[in-house]
Amino acid sequence: MAEAIKGLAAIRKHQQEQKEKAEARDRPKAEWFKWPKGVNVATALFLQELDESATGFKADRGLGFIQVEHQAPGPDGYKRRANCTLESEGECYACERHSQDYKEGWRQRQNLYINAMVDFGQGEGPKPVVIQRNANSSFVQALIEEAVEENTITSTNYRITKVGEGTTTQWLLKGLKDKFEDAKVEVFDLEETAIRQVPYEKQSEYYGAVYSGGAESSGGGSGGNTGSAAVDAEW
Ligand SMILES: [Zn+2]
Repeated sequence: MAEAIKGLAAIRKHQQEQKEKAEARDRPKAEWFKWPKGVNVATALFLQELDESATGFKADRGLGFIQVEHQAPGPDGYKRRANCTLESEGECYACERHSQDYKEGWRQRQNLYINAMVDFGQGEGPKPVVIQRNANSSFVQALIEEAVEENTITSTNYRITKVGEGTTTQWLLKGLKDKFEDAKVEVFDLEETAIRQVPYEKQSEYYGAVYSGGAESSGGGSGGNTGSAAVDAEW
């Protein structure tokens, strides 16, 4: 038998958690680029350009983009990632926390999000995924350079090679000659599935669900995550 939930505060907290879990369930989910164990080479066809002026730009596919974000500090912090709202709302809980203690782990992060068809060479063929990568990484810099020089990143496949381990991991990018058939592929809506906008007044609670350290411990809650297990500490 499940434990009883007694008292109005506990009941309301429980109801809020149930509501958040339902919302997390109903949210459309992306498939994420994730290296299978032991695999260091992938073939990728980017499905989005980085600029509308690119020769391969398709309005129905939209653009890959860089998002300024935060995530909660701590080992479970990646479960609560959200857009920085300093510009859109004029205030941002994570930025406030960062200015109180810049060592706590609330810093802004810049991540690239882009749809691609990726084949890890394991016989499954290419499948659509969302790639998330630190915008300051050598990989993203190389992709931006490619977009500037070629005025497209969607006309041929690329080889992505992973070198190094842990936080020193780098992804190398090399243009190939062939191209996956992508006419019928649909992209994931990045706004809906990859990033998350949390209103300022809800941010303390949102991040607090997985992190209760620091001066303003808000604790509580256990449900939901952003659906991404990606780590952006890798370069
Ligand atoms: Zn911020």
